Amino acid sequence: MKNEFDVIIVGGGPGGLAIGCLLAREGVSSAIVEKDPFLGGRHRSVDFHGCRVDSAIHFLVSLAGAVEKTSIYNFFSLLGLPLEYKIVPWAMGLVTKEKPGEIGFFAMDPKLGAANFFEFFAFATGVEMGDTAKDELMRAANICADMSEEECHKVVKISFADWIDQNVKDPIAQAVMHGMEPIVGAPVKDLNFGYVAKAFGAFITSGGPLIWYPRNDTLENTFIAPMVKYYTDHGGEVITNRTVSDIIVEDGKAKGVVAADNRNRFMLEKYNAPVVICAIPIFEAAARNVLKPEFLTPDWAESIRRCAALAGPDLSGFFLLREEIVPRDGYGWIHIFDTDYGIPTYVGDLALGSFTNAEEPPGKQLVRSLVVGSTPTSRFGLTPPMDTVWAGHGRWKESVEKAFPGFNEAIEYEGMNLQLNFTRYAYAVVPTEIDIQSPNIRGLYFAGDSIWAVGNPMSDKCFQMAFPLCERILEYVRA
Ligand SMILES: Cc1cc2nc3c(=O)[nH]c(=O)nc-3n(C[C@H](O)[C@H](O)[C@H](O)COP(=O)(O)OP(=O)(O)OC[C@H]3O[C@@H](n4cnc5c(N)ncnc54)[C@H](O)[C@@H]3O)c2cc1C
Repeated sequence: MKNEFDVIIVGGGPGGLAIGCLLAREGVSSAIVEKDPFLGGRHRSVDFHGCRVDSAIHFLVSLAGAVEKTSIYNFFSLLGLPLEYKIVPWAMGLVTKEKPGEIGFFAMDPKLGAANFFEFFAFATGVEMGDTAKDELMRAANICADMSEEECHKVVKISFADWIDQNVKDPIAQAVMHGMEPIVGAPVKDLNFGYVAKAFGAFITSGGPLIWYPRNDTLENTFIAPMVKYYTDHGGEVITNRTVSDIIVEDGKAKGVVAADNRNRFMLEKYNAPVVICAIPIFEAAARNVLKPEFLTPDWAESIRRCAALAGPDLSGFFLLREEIVPRDGYGWIHIFDTDYGIPTYVGDLALGSFTNAEEPPGKQLVRSLVVGSTPTSRFGLTPPMDTVWAGHGRWKESVEKAFPGFNEAIEYEGMNLQLNFTRYAYAVVPTEIDIQSPNIRGLYFAGDSIWAVGNPMSDKCFQMAFPLCERILEYVRA
């Protein structure tokens, strides 16, 4: 097997594939070294009792206001790959102690602009807003909307909570902003102001987030399969079943990687290249020592440590119900909020099979759940104890049971999928942003779920990063 390349890409998820395709388009020889038998990372599908379901991610989010403005869309257009999609309402359910069995319902409509923005915050935080509070919230949002990307990059060291306390005077507006934790998935004290400013500002300019997913198929077939084909058709090499254990660095320069053959763990192979792209989540790479501490400057190491302290695995669950319990109309996908704790508490998402394009056995209903991690027991690089996982899963089922009585009784099969979700936690207050290029090792680059704290939400970031990354690598390879 060939083992000399211009570029080695570690990891064949959307991040590795995106940069791989762009380099292949430029005629640069590269290989993707992937530990699993297939490419796709967390965009892959799984078989669940006869249903083909997206395994981790089930929709795409954009703050850009239109699918055509997302990085994925631009990427697919540039490569001439087809992309058929549909936009779905961002619906939310709220269950209160006063009315168990009844679900309060709010569907986001970005077209309504600022009115939608206020309604959404009032619903999601449970705080009624008068005109003074609305004016104050609008003033804060406008400050954020007016900030340039460069300005946002400069304030990743500032906590959003501190910014609110210093800049928002009206107590109701303050309460609404501090109450955003369940919406953003992390306490506001842990969020860097640069990230929030970009997202919060986009909220009023675009009226809210846009949720979209493939028109008829799974994410794997829609996004991954065409990229794999494009990559290999343009000369890219795919090496699967190889777990990279080391990035080789000599005299401050990347030289290649060492990988173990998963079918024979004692067989170590060396792949040589002057450029190595780490396209596994940077936090995972550091935790597993693929990325050695000496490859990091102290401020980088500290940024990774802080993000890792917040990181946690997300739990995605699959339930096959004997009968239809969840009404299909209006409940394609919901966030479940549970007010048992005094304030609305995000406990997870619920998506029906029809929403995720999964095929369901006739007469049955497939329900997908997503329970956000970030528990106090989350630890750097480690999977949380199973009792913590089961507790999260149980709490989700309890809340869904309140909204749809009979849910637990109707479950015929259930399964779980625990995945490290790094993206969500890349919003921590950090001393410096981790860039796409190593600060001290020449030829070492990062793709996919690396930190880059002021970025796109979720996986669109992988595609956004691929463009500047390709330019920098071409410059280096050609020099
Ligand atoms: C439960 C969950 C739900 C999510 N929901 C959404 C969503 O709805 N919308 C959205 O846009 N984003 C969502 N995300 C985030 C999205 O999945 C990530 O942003 C995206 O997958 C990042 O792509 P990546 O290529 O960096 O990493 P991955 O998808 O993790 O790919 C990394 C690849 O590297 C391989 N690898 C790892 N270690 C090694 C090694 N040592 N050697 C060789 N190969 C290795 C892995 O097997 C994998 O194939 C979700 C994530 C999770 C966990």
